[in-house]
Amino acid sequence: MTRPVFRFAPSPNGQLHLGHAYSALLNHQMAREADGRFLLRMEDIDVTRCTPELERGVLHDLAWLGLNWEQPVRRQSEHFDDYRAALEKLVEAELVYPAFMSRGEVRASIACYEADGASWPRDPDGAPVYPGDDRYLTPEEREARIAEGAAFAWRLDMRAAIAHVGKPLFWDETGQGPKGETGSVPADPEAWGDVVIARKEIPASYHLSVVVDDALQGVSHVVRGRDLFYATAVHRLLQELLGLPVPQYHHHDLILDDDGRKLSKSRGDTSLDALRASGATPEDIRRMIGFPVS
Ligand code: GLU
Repeated sequence: MTRPVFRFAPSPNGQLHLGHAYSALLNHQMAREADGRFLLRMEDIDVTRCTPELERGVLHDLAWLGLNWEQPVRRQSEHFDDYRAALEKLVEAELVYPAFMSRGEVRASIACYEADGASWPRDPDGAPVYPGDDRYLTPEEREARIAEGAAFAWRLDMRAAIAHVGKPLFWDETGQGPKGETGSVPADPEAWGDVVIARKEIPASYHLSVVVDDALQGVSHVVRGRDLFYATAVHRLLQELLGLPVPQYHHHDLILDDDGRKLSKSRGDTSLDALRASGATPEDIRRMIGFPVS
């Protein structure tokens, strides 16, 4: 029988905080209880914000917490060819298009629409969905813009992608969504609009690299924070378009600060590094996030 495969997949673009510690410890514990494997993956496609120094900090924090993981650690920045191959499949199927609108242009287009009192749709994270005007450019117009060096991102033509799959999608959730969703959860990728699949210089986005890697690494159980619950709908759609296996999902509670806000990497006070410097032990960390101290 093949053993279940779990993974913790931090982005080394800042220091780990208590929320990451919870996610890593939970993954590790669930893997142990299921006699499964525990992998570590560095989600470092954003090569400008992820640095080797921050990665060293992540590895140090996880080892300090008492975790161990299989070697080698998969580093996404070393596997751009895998994401490029997946992107090319979507390009060939005409399910992605080069999107040229800058953030400012998107804002202006939405402000113009909303000036009349209408409200532009927002995605589950609260960001306005991409207007998608350039979905309708002709191949010649696209080529001309690319040839003149215009910046662009590859975006999924969401409506075309959903039509291509042609059936409702679900995922198996053993944790819970923000509204208590659990069990067989219907995926609603449309709510996200035309998501970014890859950048001009980097042949991947979070959505693309996460599904490709989970499949390549044989991940059977995705255990991660509830903030990624609704993004799973996009992942299910990509799995279907790319013919990838579907893991089981478990979205866990988020560790909140004293004001009930999600912890962030930019606020250093709950970083494991700062807590360690102020004298906290790994056992203290476990206690702080409600983990049994063994
Ligand atoms: N790299 C993502 C993060 O740090 C997690 C991705 C995932 O677990 O699917 O938020």
